[in-house]
Amino acid sequence: MQIKNQSVASFHYTLRDDDENILDSSQGGEPLVYMHGMGNIVPGLEQALVGKRPGDSFKVRVPADQAYGERDERKIHQVSRSQLPKGAEITVGMQFEARGDGEVHVVTVVGLEGADRVILDSNHPLAGVALNFEIAVTEVRDATAEELSHGHVHGPHGHHHH
Ligand code: ZN
Repeated sequence: MQIKNQSVASFHYTLRDDDENILDSSQGGEPLVYMHGMGNIVPGLEQALVGKRPGDSFKVRVPADQAYGERDERKIHQVSRSQLPKGAEITVGMQFEARGDGEVHVVTVVGLEGADRVILDSNHPLAGVALNFEIAVTEVRDATAEELSHGHVHGPHGHHHH
């Protein structure tokens, strides 16, 4: 069976940047499971998976604008330390989750100014980064009616309801 809209597909992946640094990998763990055509993975990778079958392996380079987008300098701003969670030591490079526009964003501390100012970058940590995927498709099946109505994959490695 080939991957098409409303397929549920599983694949192992290794993700590298253009300098060959490994950013993420499923090797040694479970494959990633997703429902195709729902925007659940980055657009450039979803496009590259169309028509692939179990056993297919391939490499694809996804430019930033087809992955997590280009960096936006307007997403860098200063806040007062008092606006951040109390008790935590704030250091450059630390990341935390912030809620805004009804979504959860990863925010990175990129600088400290004086005693009270913290410079935050709310760009996605992979914004502006081209993603080099090495993919091995392990399973393709049709989504169940229940999965289609929910828009996501159910058990054993997908979404669980309680
Ligand atoms: Zn569900």
